[in-house]
Amino acid sequence: MTDIRFHPNTDILACYANGTLDPAASILINAHLELCPHCRQHVAQLEDHEAQSLARMPGEPMTDVLSAMMQHILTQTDRDTTPFAAHREPVSASNPTLTVNGKVFPLPRAFKAHADQIGPWTRLPGHLKRAHVATGGESQMNFIYMDCDSALPQHTHQGQEITLVLAGEFVDENNTYLPGDFIVRTPAHTHTPKTRPGMDCLCLTLLDAPLHFTSGLATLLNPFSQLFFR
Ligand SMILES: [Zn+2]
Repeated sequence: MTDIRFHPNTDILACYANGTLDPAASILINAHLELCPHCRQHVAQLEDHEAQSLARMPGEPMTDVLSAMMQHILTQTDRDTTPFAAHREPVSASNPTLTVNGKVFPLPRAFKAHADQIGPWTRLPGHLKRAHVATGGESQMNFIYMDCDSALPQHTHQGQEITLVLAGEFVDENNTYLPGDFIVRTPAHTHTPKTRPGMDCLCLTLLDAPLHFTSGLATLLNPFSQLFFR
């Protein structure tokens, strides 16, 4: 058992399993799967289901090689429930790390192939720092570091915001979020993420539109909300 309480929904995992998720979202799901045995098992089931429905698909008869491959996949009873066996490796020095605020954070193995796409840290209002990840595509991926006792002004979303906690914890009006938690927020949600005294937080976020600040003086930040979206 893990402490993870927030997981990607089945729709996202099914897109991941059948390979239709965009590259940035796939990195986020990969990183969550590294931390979450529950979702690894769910993805393995979805992949089995996908393989079986492909095998039943009418139309062109399958070549011998393809049908032998399908047979092999479907009859493997002791198959690793992780889509990639590398999950079981301990975190080693060869894994990518991220340094911020004098601390070194190990990154998910999903970043092994993307370490050179991580930009420098820039400061944001509210003792926050952001490092952009150049994944291509429409949505914007950033590492967000929240120092101890810091807060992001209350905001809502013009699109979808996905946050994966990598280290530490943060709280909002509803919950406390711990490493591995995968949080999806939409225009229906308004929240004020913050950290407690003595506890910082490193997250990975994916935004498909700029944030919209909703409370008091923070609304003055709206012209700058693009800062969180690039
Ligand atoms: Zn999960």
